[in-house]
Amino acid sequence: MSDCIFCKIASGEIPSDFVYEDENVAAFRDLNPQAPVHILVIPKKHYASSAAVDDSSVWSSLMNSAVKIARDFGLEKNGYRMVINTGEQGGQSVPHLHLHLLAGRNLGWPPG
Ligand code: 5GP
Ligand code: ZN
Repeated sequence: MSDCIFCKIASGEIPSDFVYEDENVAAFRDLNPQAPVHILVIPKKHYASSAAVDDSSVWSSLMNSAVKIARDFGLEKNGYRMVINTGEQGGQSVPHLHLHLLAGRNLGWPPG
């Protein structure tokens, strides 16, 4: 997707500091963090949302990467949250699948 901001980040067209990268996944800090730790984990392949995923290996690479990042950042002790907003009412604003990894403060529930 040539006009997708997260595809451009994943490909390096927009330079970013990745906190994690492998063949399938890239992870980088959110531009507008909602918690002291706010990392976005994305598949390098473009999927418009969670609803568009047609390959179950996307889920294993995304979730395994998020848990690995949480481990590497030492987030297990105090806890963390993983969120995937999907579609309009789900609060998705960037149409490239991404998982939010949030930590570093008490996170409210239920979400707004
Ligand atoms: P959504 O609302 O779609 O679940 O989350 C999109 C997230 O992407 C938001 O938290 C927003 O701050 C973040 N974001 C949007 N554009 C950029 C960008 O160009 N760079 C980074 N690092 N984050 C972005
Ligand atoms: Zn994309």
